[in-house]
Amino acid sequence: MKSDAENILKGIGAAPGISISQAFLYKKELEEIVNDEISDVEDALQNLNVALEKSKKELRKIFSLAVDKLGDKRAAIFEAQIMILDDPILVKTIEDRIRNEKRAPEFIVHDEISKYTDLMNLSHETYMRERSHDIEDIKNRIVRNLKKKKWKSRITSDVVVVTTSVTPSDTVLFSRVNVKGYVTDFGGLTSHAAIVARSLNIPAVVGLHDASNRIKDGDLLIIDGYKGEVILNPTEKQLGDYQKKIARLQKLDIELVKLKELPASTTDGVEIQLMANLELIDEVEVVNQNGAKGIGLVRTEQLFEEYEAFPDEEEQYKAYTKIAERIYPNNVVIRTFDIGGDKVLPVDLKEPNPFLGWRGIRLLLDNPQLFKSQIRAVLRASTHKNVKLMLPMIASIIEIKKSKEIISQCKEELKKEGRAFDKHMSLGIMIEIPSAAVLIKDFAEEVDFVSIGTNDLIQYLLAVDRGNEIVSGIYQEFHPAVVRTLHHIITGGKNAGASVSLCGEMAADPFAVPLLIGLGLDTISVSASAIPLIKKIIRNLSYKELKSLAEECLQFKSEKEINTRLHQFYNNKEKDQIKNLY
Ligand code: PEP
Ligand code: MG
Repeated sequence: MKSDAENILKGIGAAPGISISQAFLYKKELEEIVNDEISDVEDALQNLNVALEKSKKELRKIFSLAVDKLGDKRAAIFEAQIMILDDPILVKTIEDRIRNEKRAPEFIVHDEISKYTDLMNLSHETYMRERSHDIEDIKNRIVRNLKKKKWKSRITSDVVVVTTSVTPSDTVLFSRVNVKGYVTDFGGLTSHAAIVARSLNIPAVVGLHDASNRIKDGDLLIIDGYKGEVILNPTEKQLGDYQKKIARLQKLDIELVKLKELPASTTDGVEIQLMANLELIDEVEVVNQNGAKGIGLVRTEQLFEEYEAFPDEEEQYKAYTKIAERIYPNNVVIRTFDIGGDKVLPVDLKEPNPFLGWRGIRLLLDNPQLFKSQIRAVLRASTHKNVKLMLPMIASIIEIKKSKEIISQCKEELKKEGRAFDKHMSLGIMIEIPSAAVLIKDFAEEVDFVSIGTNDLIQYLLAVDRGNEIVSGIYQEFHPAVVRTLHHIITGGKNAGASVSLCGEMAADPFAVPLLIGLGLDTISVSASAIPLIKKIIRNLSYKELKSLAEECLQFKSEKEINTRLHQFYNNKEKDQIKNLY
């Protein structure tokens, strides 16, 4: 008989919630190319076709981005890749082999394209050997697209997906087949895959190192997204305990629903604007159901997942209008595309340090057409005067000034075209790069509002990758440098006449909320699913006490002291269910 502790795998609780379900092992992409026999040739050919089209579409997207930035010459690599995908001889050879040999398309694709790369690798010319990597890229892209299709059709609902790592788009795919949770070897709390999971309300535990080796298909798992634990083939006692915990949570949910119409006010009457972060457009209903005071952040990059290409102005206009109308009379803050880092595209550009690379405003300013189509769409959706525009990854005042020029141009164009828009639409910036924090006063004078993005701010301030579980222990939201920087931003921003809010994941941490409010924040934005619990917490706090708590925390010299103080704060206060959960 094994003891309870032996079967507990510890990781990082990336999205709260508890599930008890069977494991589905999702073997990633290229790990194995199985030489399976197939029974339905037509189906296989159809799959091949879909995968080729999808690969071309992806490459076109990358090509259009690369042209502006890398110039025609280097971008031509991607054009050449598209041409290879269009090569009728190659495609016909692959199709003929699938028909004759009745083998899985990924095997044939792999085998056929490898013939080229093997030959190229034998060449004496460096140029040829280097080009073989490009061909390898295409092979991997098609195989990946073929496998994803297969995976999607194989997965049954109500399972917990266990895998090495996931991307934000994998997470969206999981939600479409109604998975009950996911468990990964890699990843951190503020990786975008984790953020998407939270907004979809799928419990997730990440950064378990070897979970995909230890867990077998069909194993029974309890996943505890609060504690960051996975229990493998639980004992009767563990099952019983968790069933009780699930019942308690259901009771808490019922209690939280009752708060929907009540304000997020402290016991001494200070009202906090509790807004929601939106990942997917369909989520607006969830935002409304949870009683949010509007939307503090729309991560528009997610539109890429939905359209699988750059959405054009019309598509964006429709999407933003839908959000603005459904959230009216509350406000919505639409952030321009924050592409790059760990989010969609252009992964294939293979930047050595994507988080320090071509991301957010940098990519937008280099692609004025893309930037303008989005600004125009947001302006056109602003006719009810409840839309605000926000710029991501601002590091320099020049980026703000250049963006403002482009916004003015868009307004001029729309005026000439006779289209309606809100002439006074508010403009804001994300404060998520240390340079912006240092220069907060100057930056805030340029705009109407600033929103602190702690997910990135912490990673850049402490030089710790937000998505790497190996260093997750030193990704510390309560580091004195973080706490004092937040204070500097909040006071500096307000003194410059801008409103200041915070939309990073820190705002959804029950232990951080008292500190953030004490530091002077009156607006925070969190995943829609976290709103009821955070509201309940705020309604039990006294503003006066929070002020002195923050004063105290600003004096501490180590993260340990701040952490201990904030945990103690709850111990001394009404404890409610928070302590039971975490
Ligand atoms: C942040 O950095 O805190 C933020 C809200 O933006 P994102 O998580 O999308 O990078
Ligand atoms: Mg960010």
